[in-house]
Amino acid sequence: MAYLSDYNTAHQYKAIVLNTKRLTPDNTEEVREIILEVQDPLFKCQVDQSFGVLVRYDSPFGKNIHHRFYSVADLPDVSKKLTTLTMLVKRCSYVDDFSGEKYDGVASNYLCDRKAGDEITITGPHSLPFVVPDDRHANIILVGMGTGIAPFKSFVKHIYTNVKDWQGKIRLFYGARSGLELLYLNDKDGDLTNYYDQKTFEAFTALSPRPAWADPIALDKALEGKSAEILEMLKQNNCYIYVAGFGKILEKLDTAFSNIVGSKEKWENRKAELKAGKKWAEIIY
Ligand SMILES: Cc1cc2nc3c(=O)[nH]c(=O)nc-3n(C[C@H](O)[C@H](O)[C@H](O)COP(=O)(O)OP(=O)(O)OC[C@H]3O[C@@H](n4cnc5c(N)ncnc54)[C@H](O)[C@@H]3O)c2cc1C
Repeated sequence: MAYLSDYNTAHQYKAIVLNTKRLTPDNTEEVREIILEVQDPLFKCQVDQSFGVLVRYDSPFGKNIHHRFYSVADLPDVSKKLTTLTMLVKRCSYVDDFSGEKYDGVASNYLCDRKAGDEITITGPHSLPFVVPDDRHANIILVGMGTGIAPFKSFVKHIYTNVKDWQGKIRLFYGARSGLELLYLNDKDGDLTNYYDQKTFEAFTALSPRPAWADPIALDKALEGKSAEILEMLKQNNCYIYVAGFGKILEKLDTAFSNIVGSKEKWENRKAELKAGKKWAEIIY
């Protein structure tokens, strides 16, 4: 387990907001795509990395600097001396268990409120565990929810744009509360559907059966719906599983994979093998 305090914030860079646009409709959770330009040529960032954002927050208890991570959500443009970075940010708020009061998340609200031309401070780049395997025959299962699509969007784009001639299967399972919140996989904004004509790529979506009741997203059912293919992929040594999104999903994924491989014990063993070979990676927040 890594803690935010373990990450170096000594290298700080100024970034200018080039563009910010809301991807989700007004009556749903706000997710924004924010494009930044980092003018310092020393900042170099790659597709399987994240970067930090530093936010000054003044509360009744004092002034603090908060450090939060965001995944690189598109291929960074490094063609000029400057780096252009894309991030996806969900505006977060939380209800305090004691008081029942609603609190706004510090960094996500700060970022969602930024306008084009504003300057922010970033750190990094920091590594992400979603490494693109050297083996072009590797089979990769990507499981993401909400803004968890961010690292996978750049991952898939990198494979089909830069690596090319990928031979292994890539299966993306992506969940959102409702069809309107399926980022990059909806009718209006289908960036990831660009890869549907790649013979090695398929994407499957899952929704919450009753979004208004906050029913969990049925990603487990989406995986189990493809049991035979996932089992085949899991039998290969070069199978990778990467998961990004909310922690609540992990238990459901374990149940789904246990059903797919035949028992809880078989899945525990296979997952342990994947972890030992650095072929299971997760970012949970
Ligand atoms: C590697 C990595 C990659 C990530 N990538 C992305 C990404 O691409 N996109 C994205 O949107 N997020 C991403 N995240 C999550 C992101 O870093 C932040 O955690 C998220 O934006 C919420 O931050 P916040 O400052 O708005 O909320 P915070 O202020 O940190 O709130 C977080 C917690 O604090 C509590 N809380 C908040 N405010 C209060 C308050 N006033 N009083 C009491 N309790 C409170 C809540 O219980 C909540 O659980 C990533 C995280 C990691 C680790």
